[in-house]
Amino acid sequence: MTLDSSVRIGLLLPDVLGTYADGGNATVLAQRLRWRGVPAEVLSCPASEEPPTGCEIYLLGGGEDAAQLFAADWLRERPALCRALAGPAVTLAVCAGLQILGHTLTDAAGQPRPGAGLLDLATRPRAGRATGEITTECLLPGVGRLSGFENHRGVTTLGPDARPLGRVLRGVGNGDRGRWGRGGEGARAGRIFGTYLHGPVLARNPALADHLLTLATGSELAELEVADQAALRRQYLG
Ligand code: GLN
Repeated sequence: MTLDSSVRIGLLLPDVLGTYADGGNATVLAQRLRWRGVPAEVLSCPASEEPPTGCEIYLLGGGEDAAQLFAADWLRERPALCRALAGPAVTLAVCAGLQILGHTLTDAAGQPRPGAGLLDLATRPRAGRATGEITTECLLPGVGRLSGFENHRGVTTLGPDARPLGRVLRGVGNGDRGRWGRGGEGARAGRIFGTYLHGPVLARNPALADHLLTLATGSELAELEVADQAALRRQYLG
């Protein structure tokens, strides 16, 4: 795309997966584009409306167990949207959003439920909730350390077609001991990225926001230093 046309950011199901304020990721992406003179629009796509399939970026957030089962079915009923999420768009899915993009999520009663199958992973419940601050070393080149908070009951096991987004330095993350070893956090495959980090993750980690924007626009973006964000990173990462 050219940087003259507006970058469309589709915020999927903010009314269903809005518990952890991950909708702030849309604001961060749009603002980082506008600060660079690139027009951007956030398209909010609640459950009652048919979502657009032509966005450059899609976002899914975290939510409660019942809400995420609804969201998984909503996605599976929209194959055109699922095709768009897998590319050409860039997709960022957080926590419940990450879990529902996998093959299955097993509910608290031990019942496996189908996900959208866009990421090669499966999630089952852990004994207790993983809550608190989390720090990872992001495995994407140049992104560095990521900080966020986690609040989930999922253990996520990646298959061969997904790689972790980061390696856990503090906190729990995926909580599995799968083929990628212990300490994996999140998942990535092609242009889909998933993470357990709330914050919102892109507010705390502008380098990850810019990685997604560079991919979505196909353009090198100008450096951007935001004093408040630098202070926030020092606060969480030292
Ligand atoms: N309900 C899911 C879990 O507890 C996801 C939670 C979340 O999105 N923070 O694992």
